[in-house]
Amino acid sequence: MKSQPLVSCVDAARTFGRGESWVVAVYSATCDVYAGDRIALVGQSGSGKSTLIHLLAGLDLPTAGTISWPALGARRDLPGRVAVVFQNPSLLDPLDVTENVALPLLIGGMDAAQASERASAALALLDLTDLAAKLPEELSGGQAQRVAAARALAGRPKLLLADEPTGQLDHISGAQVIAALIAAADEAGAGLVIATHDLAVSKRLATTWRMIDGRVALPVARPNFEVVSS
Ligand code: ADP
Ligand code: MG
Repeated sequence: MKSQPLVSCVDAARTFGRGESWVVAVYSATCDVYAGDRIALVGQSGSGKSTLIHLLAGLDLPTAGTISWPALGARRDLPGRVAVVFQNPSLLDPLDVTENVALPLLIGGMDAAQASERASAALALLDLTDLAAKLPEELSGGQAQRVAAARALAGRPKLLLADEPTGQLDHISGAQVIAALIAAADEAGAGLVIATHDLAVSKRLATTWRMIDGRVALPVARPNFEVVSS
């Protein structure tokens, strides 16, 4: 029997504004994400990718339809079980890399020694141990984004979402960030959804969801999918 979805959207829509400025960002999306899914959410700028990522994360609410997290519990339980990586890594300048990765765990109530241990383990898994004591200003854009992936991984999320995580990176750093996100999802046994308009990213993920003007087209699975190492 297939397990319950991590997140399930049924006819979920999100509109913004009113009157003449009314915009439908997402029309009636019906989709599920399961543990082990590796999904690229592709589509042109303005097609609704970020809005759908925010809905899947529980950071935003649909204006119609429903979103639930059957395998994760109620919406209030989501922090910690859902991690989101944004285009900007948003590291805190005064904290070193290990402290940045440990911070959400500390905020979540973990004791300092355990949080630091978990942060070190997440950095090691993503091959970032050499950066552990560096400050954000000493990192390249790609390194900072991989640290953001380690920060997401440290919380052992069940659902890992990323919104254009390679948007500001060159091709090689972008590929490293995607590899880090896939490794993080594998390690946590999570479902992974990456919004991107970069075809090189979608080629590394087994499933593509295409958004066109706010509509999610039927998922397309790649036959005989194999990850192509770059
Ligand atoms: P994408 O991430 O694919 O570029 P978005 O989800 O950001 O697309 O946007 C989808 C549509 O919704 C766009 O027309 C955008 O202008 C609109 N939109 C997104 N967020 C807001 C907002 N907070 N207020 C008004 N319109 C918004
Ligand atoms: Mg976007």
